[in-house]
This record gives sequence, structure tokens and C-alpha cells, in this order.
Amino acid sequence: HTIGEDLVRAIARFGEREALVEVATGRRWTYRELGRAVDEVALGLLGKGVGKGDRVGIWSPNCAEWVLVQYATAKIGAILVNVNPAYRVHELAYVLRQAGIGVLVSAIEHRTSDYRRMAEQVRADCPALRDVVYIGDPTSWGGLLAGGAGVPHTRLADCAQHLTADDPVNIQYTSGTTGFPKGATLSHHNILNNGFWVGETIGYTEHDRVCLPVPFYHCFGMVMGNLGATSHGACIVIPAPAFDAAATLQAVQDERCTSLYGVPTMFIAELHHPDFASYDLSSLRTGIMAGSPCPEEVMKRVVSEMHMAEVSICYGMTETSPVSTQTRRDDDLEHRTATVGRVLPHIEVKVVDPVSGVTVPRGTPGELCTRGYSVMLGYWEDAERTAEVIDAARWMHTGDLAVMNDDGYVRIVGRIKDMIIRGGENVYPREIEEFLHSHPKIADVQVVGVPDEKYGEEIAACVILRDPGAPLTRDELDRYCRSRLAHYKVPRYLEIVDEFPMTVSGKVRKVELRERLAKELG
Ligand code: ATP
Ligand code: MG
Repeated sequence: HTIGEDLVRAIARFGEREALVEVATGRRWTYRELGRAVDEVALGLLGKGVGKGDRVGIWSPNCAEWVLVQYATAKIGAILVNVNPAYRVHELAYVLRQAGIGVLVSAIEHRTSDYRRMAEQVRADCPALRDVVYIGDPTSWGGLLAGGAGVPHTRLADCAQHLTADDPVNIQYTSGTTGFPKGATLSHHNILNNGFWVGETIGYTEHDRVCLPVPFYHCFGMVMGNLGATSHGACIVIPAPAFDAAATLQAVQDERCTSLYGVPTMFIAELHHPDFASYDLSSLRTGIMAGSPCPEEVMKRVVSEMHMAEVSICYGMTETSPVSTQTRRDDDLEHRTATVGRVLPHIEVKVVDPVSGVTVPRGTPGELCTRGYSVMLGYWEDAERTAEVIDAARWMHTGDLAVMNDDGYVRIVGRIKDMIIRGGENVYPREIEEFLHSHPKIADVQVVGVPDEKYGEEIAACVILRDPGAPLTRDELDRYCRSRLAHYKVPRYLEIVDEFPMTVSGKVRKVELRERLAKELG
């Protein structure tokens, strides 16, 4: 069914249970209240002339209205376009034009971003943009709702009648880790099913409270988070507009959250927060780590120090709604920390030789391909690029290197694009990063290849120290590596940094790091 129908079902079953909490303002909604608030926004959008298939943009850090707009657009058959909250004028204008956005729902400001000023600035360049509604501006937001008050409620039933689960509901941009983000067009069927199965695998019920420091702008937040929660009657808890380790830990404690999401860098920041030990995290049972390689060391600490005994790793990509494989509660600790689990129901995966396309034997690395309900409709108005990644048999070629063992557990070895070829040997940065995470002075580490005359590429380790007062020398690192890594995997360069270049979804932009180092070391 559609996302709107699923919400109606949740309201009927869980009406008086809490559905949404915005910690920063203390606002709360039960399922019944959420349903009413969503309808108000949906009618408001209809009042603005938004119809089936029309694109509505949302450009805002996490807030309750984000969730209302997500469900409201789904209900009336509009296509929600998630615009990266880190964008500046040029990028905003690009997305507005590329997706043909008619109505933009925008924040006013947050931290250093003056959203309103930028939105007003692009209007002249974007003729299709008829209207901008500002969240948090009583006149603008109130105007949306007031306009909807005059629209008959029966219009919502009409919308539902003309909608099928295969209709597009979302243009979800990829993280832009390896280049300019691509807009994946996803249907109700794609993302509702995926959210449902992720929640099902974790075992969500109406008693779960899911803390979401991950951006709604990304599929981690809006699908695995919001849809994963509401399809099971669980409660969405928004700890802060954007990631903040202390606010997240505080929200878990105060809201008695049972589940916490994050990319690895977020969990690392929480574990290393100076006040970490003072928070009561005993309500936690589970959560999800995903989005980039999840170091075993960090997973083990999340299990033992954050009470997340059942924490799950998900692997996926925006183009596949997003999750393809996930660890399960009954997997043993070893499989739960060192693999990305097994394939979810109703999805297929295979590992192929990236050149020949032939399936490789179990245990051999190759490109992971996935197929099933989860594969996107395509990149928005870009048939050519779609054809580059989805083949004639509907297999999505992920660009990720993986190994599947005899029992179907998958390990992600790295991205094809990140693989280092040093003197003819394939070196997977992931393997070296995993190893270096065990070094007592290292809080976080990224390994990249830099051009080298002799070997083609050389290995550089970029390290964030646990304690800047306890420096790490190259010799020390060298000695540590020599005893336990083959000589050709030992990093030649060591760079100590304060932070890595990141995407909004919290991923390290290795490409940028690589370019920076190539310049510095070249
Ligand atoms: P872009 O496609 O724009 O370069 P991106 O691929 O990072 O950015 P997303 O769709 O957000 O955009 O991320 C999907 C990618 O993230 C996967 O292809 C994979 O490389 C990586 N990834 C996701 N989950 C995991 C995981 N559990 N372990 C390792 N890598 C992961
Ligand atoms: Mg990608």
C-alpha cells in the first residue's frame, strides 16, 4: 500500500501512543495528533495547488515539520525532494531547477545558514518555483495551514484514490561522497517496504522509541528512521536539528530511547564525549550503525558501553531504498560486528567480477549487485545514468566490493573507486583502517592512496588522535603495522588531522581527502 494508507493503519492501531517528539522544543504528537497535523499540511499544500506528481522541495535541518511534510506530500501524491541542508545558493538553484520544484518548504536559519536569504535570492532564477513556505515563521507556516482550512477534507480521499504504491514519492539525493549527488526517484513501494523490513528485523513495536540524530534529508533518517518507526507504531525522537553528541546522549537518557541510529563517526563522537559516562543509557536495547564501513572496534564498544546489545549494521545505498543487507538480533556477536549481515527478505544479492559480470565463488571479493522491490525507479530524468547502474535484468550495480561467505553473510571490502593499487597489489583501505582502529592512540582513521612515481600509488593514513597530548609518530605507526600487516599494506605517510572532510550524512569524503593529500605530499 501507499505511505498514506500505512499511516492511517498505524493511527487506527496505535492512536494514543506517542509518535513524534521534538526534544529541542518539547513538542509531542500521538499517532492521532500526528495524523491530524499531517492532514492539515496536506490540505495546505492542496490549497497551494500542489497536485499528483508535483515536486515539493524540503530544505531544512531535522525538525517535526520535516516529518509532517514527508507524510503530507506522500498522502497527496506529490514527490518530496530532499534538498541538502548544507547547500548554498548555487547548489540550491541547481536542484530546484533540475527537479522542477514548484513549492519549497524551507527553514529560516540554522547555525551559519541563512536559509531564508538564500531561498529569496534564487527565486528570480527559478521560474518554476511558485512559493516558499518557511518553517518556524508563524505568518508563512500559519498561512499554509490557513489556506488548507478552506479545502474540503474529501480532497484527501480523492488523492488516495488516484494513487498507487508504484507512484514516485521521493527524489532522494545520494550523499555525494564520490562526486556530485544523484537524485534517485523512489516509489511508495520502494521505501515503505524497506522501512518496514528494517524495523521488522530490529523487532520494533509500539514500545520502541527511536532516537534519530541522522539527517532526515538522507534515507537513513527518512526511511530507516521515520518509516521504520511509524510502520511499527514506534516513536520518532528528534534529539536536535543537526548532529550533536551531547544532545543525542541527553535525548536518549531523558526520552528513555530504546534505539539509536548513527553513522560510525557519530557513535565515535558519542563514545569520546568527555561527559559520556555521566549519561544513563540503560533504556537502549538496539539501534543501527550504517552508511559507511563500521569498524569492529566501534561496534564492540557500542554493544558493551552503550547498552545496545542488539545493535544492527545495515548496508545499502540511496538507489536501493536504501537497505539490502542487515544483521539480525539472533546473529552472534562476531557476525553482528564484523559483517553487514545477510540479505533482507524479498531482495536478491550476488557478487560478480566487476569486469566480466560473472558471479564469483563464495569467499572471493567482487562487485555487489542487488535486485528486488528495493531498486529505485531510476535517477530523476537521467535515463543514461540509470542505464549505467541498472542492467537489463534489473540488477543494481552498487560499485561496492564485497565478499559473501557460505552462510550468506556479506562483508563490505570497500568501494571500487577507493581501492588502492600499490605496485600491482590491490590494497583495501578498509582492512588497514580496521587494523589501525585497534591502536590505543587512534580515535578515527582514514586510509587513502596518493600518487607515487615508483609504486603507482602509496598508502597514506590520516589519523584523528584520541588525545592530542599523546602524539603518534610515523615510526611508532610503522612499528605497529610491520608486525601485523604485510609490508605492502603498511602506510608510507601519516597525517594527523583534527577532522575529516564530511558530507551532511556524516560520511568522510575520501575523494577530497585524497586530493588534499596528493597536493600536500606530491
Ligand atoms: P555518492 O553515490 O553520491 O558518491 P554515497 O554512495 O555515499 O554517495 P549513499 O547512497 O548515501 O551515497 O551511500 C551508499 C554507500 O555507502 C554504499 O554504496 C557504500 O559504499 C556505503 N555504505 C553504506 N552502508 C555501509 C556499510 N554498512 N558498510 C560499508 N559501507 C557502507
Ligand atoms: Mg553511491
